Amino acid sequence: MSNLLGLEVKKIVETTPEEVDRVQNWINTEEYREKNFARQALVINPAHACQPLGAQLAAHGFEGTLPFVHGSQGCASYYRSTLNRHFREPAPAVSDAMTEDGAVFGGQNNLHEGLENAVALYKPKMIAVFTSCMPEVIGDDLTAFIKNARQKGHVPKDMPVPYANTPSFNGTHIHGYDSMLVSILQNLTEGKQIEGRCTGKLNLIAGCDFNTGDYREYKRILTEFGIPHTVLADISDSFDSPCDGHYHIYAGGTKLEDAADSINGKATITLGPYATPKTFSFIKDNYSGKHVSMPMPMGIEKTDAFIMKVAELFGKEVPASLKNERGRAVDAITDAHQYIHGKKFAVYGDPDYLLGYVSFLLEMGAHPHHILCSRGSKKLEKELQALLDGSEFGKGCKIYMNKDLWHLRSLLMTDPVDAIIGDSHGKFAARDAKIPLFRFGFPIFDRVNKHRYPIIGYQGAVNMLTEICNKFIDIKDETCEDRDFELMR
Ligand code: SF4
Repeated sequence: MSNLLGLEVKKIVETTPEEVDRVQNWINTEEYREKNFARQALVINPAHACQPLGAQLAAHGFEGTLPFVHGSQGCASYYRSTLNRHFREPAPAVSDAMTEDGAVFGGQNNLHEGLENAVALYKPKMIAVFTSCMPEVIGDDLTAFIKNARQKGHVPKDMPVPYANTPSFNGTHIHGYDSMLVSILQNLTEGKQIEGRCTGKLNLIAGCDFNTGDYREYKRILTEFGIPHTVLADISDSFDSPCDGHYHIYAGGTKLEDAADSINGKATITLGPYATPKTFSFIKDNYSGKHVSMPMPMGIEKTDAFIMKVAELFGKEVPASLKNERGRAVDAITDAHQYIHGKKFAVYGDPDYLLGYVSFLLEMGAHPHHILCSRGSKKLEKELQALLDGSEFGKGCKIYMNKDLWHLRSLLMTDPVDAIIGDSHGKFAARDAKIPLFRFGFPIFDRVNKHRYPIIGYQGAVNMLTEICNKFIDIKDETCEDRDFELMR
C-alpha cells in the first residue's frame, strides 16, 4: 500500500485474512456476548444524544425564538446538523463559541458579546440559552451572567431570555428538552396568571417528540373534538414548513402570547412523562385547571386512553369521526395482523417511544423480545415489565437497561429476532443480523419524510403497521422459491 506521495506505508500490525475472519465470527458468539455485557467503563454507540440537543428542539417550538448555545461551537454544530439531517430543514441556532480563554476565565464575555450580536443580526422575539459541557465543567453561573447582560443592555429589557443548564455528562436529550421547556414556560408565564380567567383551552405538550406529523395529528384530533388548544413547543411548522422560495429563519412555533396565557388554561396534558417531569411538576404547581401526564398514545389502547381523557376533561362525547377512525384502524389491524403476529422484535430508544413501541407490538401479537434503553431507570423498567406481564406475547421478552447498540448487536447475533425498531444508528447491527430496521425514533438520517408520518393516534398505528407488514411481505417476495412466488400474499 502507498500513501499520497507514492511512498510505501509500512503497516504497524499485519492482520491476516484468517484472523479477520476469526474475530468476525468470534464477535457473534455467546462467549463474546458475555464479555460484552461485562463491559463497565465504555459505552459504544449509545442510543441517545446529548442534553443541549433536546434543549434546542424545545426552543425551536416557540415563535421567533433563537436557540443560543453557551459553549463550544463544535457542539452547536453537532445539534444543528443532527436536527438538520433528521428533518432535512435548517435548524438555525447560534453559539457564543467559547474557546480556551473562556474555559480559563469563564464565558461571561462570550455570552454578552454573543447576545448582543444575536439581537442585532437575527432580531428574535426570544432567545433561549442553554449550555454545552464546557461551561458546565468550569461552573459558569448562567443566572448571574444573564442578569448582568440585562443590566449592561446587551439584550433589550423586555426580551425574554430563558436559560437552562444542560450538562451532557448527566442525562440525555430528553432531559435537556425538559430543562429548556420548563425554563421557557416559567419565563413566559411569570406574572400572567389572572384570577378568575380561563382560556377554555387545552394545553398539550407532545414531549421530546421529533415527528412533526405527530404534532399535526394531535391538532387534528383536538379540532375533531372542537376543543380550542395550544400545543406548547410546537415544532410542526418550524421543521416542516412550505417551500415557497424564501428562507424563513423562524418558520413556526407556539405564539409567545399563547404560551404566556397557557397558565390560565382549562387543562394541560403532557404526553411524554419521561421527557417532561420538571415541566409537569411546574405546571401542576402553577397552572390553572386540570393537569394530566400520560404516555404517548401509540397503538390502540394508549390512543383510546388519550381520547377518553380529553373527552373527560372537556365533558365532551367522542366525535363520530374519531370513533370511525378507530374502527378503520382496527380493521387495518385485522387485515394485516397475520404478517406481524408471532414475529420477534428488538426495540430501543427514548423511554416514551419505547413504551409506545412495546405496547403497539404486544397489541399486534408480536414479541418485543429484546427491549433496550441506553439511559433507563428502575421506574421505566417496572413500567415496561408491567406491559410484558399483561400480555401473553410478553413472555420470554427481556429488558436491558443502560445498554448500548453494541450490546444490542450481541443480542441479535446470539438470540436472533425478525426485525428491529429504533433510529438510524441501528442500521449497522441490522445489516450484520440480516434483518430489517424500522425507523420510527430519532434520529432518522437515512430515509426521507419519515417525520411527516405520525406514529401516534389511530392513524399512527396504521402507519406503523403498514410499513412493518409490507416489509415482511417484500422479504417473502424477494426470498421465496419461484414456486411460492404468488400474486396474493
Ligand atoms: S456531549 Fe458535551 S462536548 Fe459532546 S457534543 Fe454534547 S455538549 Fe458538546
